[in-house]
Amino acid sequence: MEKLMLGVIGDPIAHTLSPLIQNAIAQKLGIPAEYGVYHVPLSKLPDFVSMAREKLRGFNITIPHKQNILPCLDSIDDYAAACGAVNTVRIEDGKLSGHNTDGDGLRMAMAMNGIRMEDSRILMLGAGGAALSICRKALDVGAKKVTVLCRSPKKAEAFRAFGAAVDEMTDEKMASYAAGSDLIINATPLGMEGIGSDFAGFDFLDGTKADVVDIVYKPAETSLLRECRRRDLRCMNGLGMLVCQAVYAFAIFSGAEFDHEEMAVHVMDAVRAAIYKEN
Ligand code: NAP
Repeated sequence: MEKLMLGVIGDPIAHTLSPLIQNAIAQKLGIPAEYGVYHVPLSKLPDFVSMAREKLRGFNITIPHKQNILPCLDSIDDYAAACGAVNTVRIEDGKLSGHNTDGDGLRMAMAMNGIRMEDSRILMLGAGGAALSICRKALDVGAKKVTVLCRSPKKAEAFRAFGAAVDEMTDEKMASYAAGSDLIINATPLGMEGIGSDFAGFDFLDGTKADVVDIVYKPAETSLLRECRRRDLRCMNGLGMLVCQAVYAFAIFSGAEFDHEEMAVHVMDAVRAAIYKEN
């Protein structure tokens, strides 16, 4: 079998977990693969793309190139085009096709925990790239309503174009929207290790019975999740999203058919051990 030549690009890229995850999937499937880590500053993106057209079967993309890659693509799927961001590129006969697996990844990770986007009234905290991808997926699969709370009004337009409601992120509004929601998703970096900022308080959780998803995965239990646990709210962190989006990406690269959920379970322990090793 021909070796699958893959990789990941970003700037910075040193701490990426993609090689660990992608190699674990390839190994489990018995597919020979070589997965490179490419530190690509914006000025070197065209050189990387020329090399990739010749030598790679696909690559993952992380910050800051999820948008920068768009002009280099030969085609893009509808969902990635709507999000304006690509995290997975497949290369066939030198042609690059762009995909975005974040929304499906989170949806699958949620389903594995019994949490649904479908038919839910969703409160989204944050209006960055991840929030936009999740919002689009949630509305595509039949969420009843998505309300996005954010601090920068200039981000609102893209969400409104999808049919989401957008409001200002204040303590009062968080409490009032949380009370009327079935699902709360934190798509800000608040509570993330090394970021130095966290939610000012958690009173907004007092009047809700919603499930809570924090897409931050380090630490394993953010203060948001700790407070959910104290209030008996069903909740989960972002590790499942990280793993499941990678499982979808490998399926796109390889064209292989396999049980995505089984694969995610298989990979999860290795990733958990790598991420939380010093805890
Ligand atoms: P991003 O594009 O930078 O967006 C971050 C959002 O959070 C922006 O709306 C930002 O508001 C808001 N925000 C930042 N600090 C805030 C604060 N102190 N108060 C209120 N809002 C604040 O980042 P992203 O790519 O969407 O990622 C967001 C988080 O999700 C990161 O922690 C990232 O590591 C995590 N993530 C996890 C996965 C996974 O697989 N689990 C995947 C993607 C992302 P402004 O626009 O006003 O700055």
